[in-house]
Amino acid sequence: MPSDAPTDVPTDARAVPEPLEARHVLEFPGGYTRSTGPVIGRFLTELRDRRIVGVRTAAERVLVPPLEYDPATGESVTGEYVEVGPAGTVETWAWVSAPRPGHPLDRPFAWATIRLDGADTSLVHVVDAGGSRAMRPGLRVRPRWRTETSGHITDIECFVPEATMITAPVRAEYRVRPGRALTRFLEGIRDGVFVGGYCAGCDQVYVPYRISCPACGSVIEEEREVADTGTVETFAINNLPDPRAPEVPFVSAYILLDGADIPMIALVGGIPAHEVRQGMRVRAVWVPPEERTMSMTNIRWFAPTGEPDADLSAGRPGGGD
Ligand SMILES: [Zn+2]
Repeated sequence: MPSDAPTDVPTDARAVPEPLEARHVLEFPGGYTRSTGPVIGRFLTELRDRRIVGVRTAAERVLVPPLEYDPATGESVTGEYVEVGPAGTVETWAWVSAPRPGHPLDRPFAWATIRLDGADTSLVHVVDAGGSRAMRPGLRVRPRWRTETSGHITDIECFVPEATMITAPVRAEYRVRPGRALTRFLEGIRDGVFVGGYCAGCDQVYVPYRISCPACGSVIEEEREVADTGTVETFAINNLPDPRAPEVPFVSAYILLDGADIPMIALVGGIPAHEVRQGMRVRAVWVPPEERTMSMTNIRWFAPTGEPDADLSAGRPGGGD
């Protein structure tokens, strides 16, 4: 990246700006290949339908690509997905004048960080600008989709400069989202209860609370408090430090709260990481009431209850799959 000047260059040699150097920021194809959790999985699934989504954090920021945790606070994201872009603005770039085999384009291009409209973070992708002179901070670009999409980051072949300046308020349709659902959920968290939304049509309880049913699309009017106990559905052992996690390694898990029909992401603690397992019964460990705020940090983590493991193959209560 342009700001990463080599540290072994003498100070005087760095006084003159060097041409930007091409570096592998991301290797195509095969870049982004990792075991995708549900969050990245959702991102990739949406790409197949030529939509780009981010995930909203508790602090109302939109992360693109979505992450399971807010890198700024370490808090779990809300699970609320937001369509962004598809157009965006170039922030920084590295020009590749001599593409190599394995590069996404066979002609000169830029690796760029692009802030999509409606997003609060930037993603790295390819800009096919024709020439390096076309690149500038603030350049408006939009994706060029492949004819065939497969749920992969390369479903976007590259970004290309917008032919004309767009002055319409592209973000307007996303700004009408009232945020009522998240507020209601966090009010519950402040009071030590999990508030879900109940869709009568589908007989499903969604936690965190949301304003529309992801299955049938109807507006959710009814609240349901659910237990602070649940079952670990899937989990990941993380070996990178996280500001919210007490130690490394730590475990993040999808926990299906009793009475809910979709799982929520949370930390698991009070047990060695290697002993966490699918089906393990857990209960939220709340911080003392006087320390609580309207945030997910009220839940220190989920700890084992000591109950026998649940049988996940029996299916979810409440009529889920
Ligand atoms: Zn429904």
